[in-house]
Amino acid sequence: MKSVEENLKNLNSTLENATKNSKFGNTPQVIVVTKYVTIDRAIEAYQAGLRNFGENRIEGFLDKKQQLPDDAVMHFIGSLQTRKVKEVINEIDYLHSLDRIKLAKEINKRANHVINCFVQVNVSNEESKHGISATDVIPFIKELEEFENIKVVGLMTMAPLTEDKSEVQKYFKQLREIRDEIQIMNLSYAPCNELSMGMSNDYNEAILEGASFVRIGTKLVGE
Ligand SMILES: *Cc1c(COP(=O)(O)O)cnc(C)c1O
Repeated sequence: MKSVEENLKNLNSTLENATKNSKFGNTPQVIVVTKYVTIDRAIEAYQAGLRNFGENRIEGFLDKKQQLPDDAVMHFIGSLQTRKVKEVINEIDYLHSLDRIKLAKEINKRANHVINCFVQVNVSNEESKHGISATDVIPFIKELEEFENIKVVGLMTMAPLTEDKSEVQKYFKQLREIRDEIQIMNLSYAPCNELSMGMSNDYNEAILEGASFVRIGTKLVGE
């Protein structure tokens, strides 16, 4: 198994290339997804210089948070059951999976400070995927105004698994266009500046469309 440091070096050079080829030119922040790996491997990622960590289950999330140094930024990237919100919400720096009003209500009730949330969008409209359909995003965000503990920092999506890179890029572009529409609305509770998109297989296409956070597991820490 390669060291995280070596994987990160390779990743950084491809990220740099993608950024050069993108008309947006922003270098995304890398979230290292540690859901498949042990705490030792997560600590190795920290020592390699990574500071943003992603987990998709509550147990793994709390474990990693507890054992990583305090300046690790913790991202919850999995779907969150409403009844589990109280166990974890105040430990989360960024939630990437806000996708229903019932969840927003519970977060608002249990949070003891404002929670940075990404609204998860199912741009490809696959039945198997969580997230709000593209046409419902703006009405959904309008409804969030009443929740004083929710701040919409951006939009998140997962592209379909396909070899067709141009199709994948089309979905990322669509997410960016929705984000742009929301930004123009100038909502204080939903600045929506960020785009969380791109994983090990498709971060290149995501960066071409302006991703500001990429979520990388396999390519950095292995499966
Ligand atoms: C697992 C996961 C990732 C990372 O996937 P890799 O293909 O291993 O890079 C990114 N985002 C979400 C939401 C995930 O569940």
